[in-house]
Amino acid sequence: DGVIWLDGELIPWRDAKVHVLTHTLHYGMGVFEGVRAYETGSGPAIFRLKEHTDRLFNSAKILSMKVPFDKDQINEAHTTMIRENKLPHAYLRPLVFYGSEAMGLRANGLTVHVAVAAWEWPSYMSPEALELGIKVRTSSYTRHHVNITMCKAKSTGSYMNSMLALNEALSGGADEALLLDNEGYVAEGSGENVFLIRDGVLYTPELTSCLDGITRKTIFQLAEERGYKVREKRLTRDEFYIADEAFFTGTAAEVTPIRELDGRIIGEGKRGPITEELQSVYFDLVRGKSEE
Ligand code: PLP
Repeated sequence: DGVIWLDGELIPWRDAKVHVLTHTLHYGMGVFEGVRAYETGSGPAIFRLKEHTDRLFNSAKILSMKVPFDKDQINEAHTTMIRENKLPHAYLRPLVFYGSEAMGLRANGLTVHVAVAAWEWPSYMSPEALELGIKVRTSSYTRHHVNITMCKAKSTGSYMNSMLALNEALSGGADEALLLDNEGYVAEGSGENVFLIRDGVLYTPELTSCLDGITRKTIFQLAEERGYKVREKRLTRDEFYIADEAFFTGTAAEVTPIRELDGRIIGEGKRGPITEELQSVYFDLVRGKSEE
């Protein structure tokens, strides 16, 4: 049911298919975004659409893929998806990928396709995760050079690493993975940025090995407005073990408390008070209950 925006046209959901020789399917060169629309008093509102579209275009530029639409057309595709599919709230997925005209690593000359899909996806982790916090395991997979040089890009090619890390965490009985960089400093979760709180100050890794997250930036703003200091610095996993609070941020994960890392209970082993406060103002903001 519903429609998907594909290369400027609205296609029935079941017909929005690609060929098996789709280049991106083979080599992983493509870019995407994860965007959310929230229910507000005056209908669904897409949170930070401009920032997501800017990052999509930047990601494409970093990968030398030329998006054959302008930003206004892509923004419009998002609002069309919400409207045409009559979604009260939604997760939106724009995707930029190469076509199926040729195989091989020389991608010049291939068609660049763009799709925007939307569906209802209320909870990314589990419904309890936001309230109770999650168990996290440090991963044996590290953020490799592709991710490190691409903290400004959200690319399909970066996610094999994330999926291996997440699968490892899940099979070890945890809910999410914490990836380190090649030097052993904390980078981020499989699809989230990470923060710790100690003595009322927020710390998060600098942008050398993690994605320049839009939720991360939103938390900077909300925390600073509420008088908390935010510091970007290299963090070791020990600093997480002895933190008062820790949490993940992401469009999908929103603000998810971390209650345990590698078997060490963080703080009180539940959602900490500052995390709860920031989570609550985050939800007010995305649901249009507070000023930008
Ligand atoms: N880090 C990675 C690897 C991600 O995939 C995401 C998800 O988009 C994030 C961090 C969080 O970024 P944002 O807050 O912009 O969704």
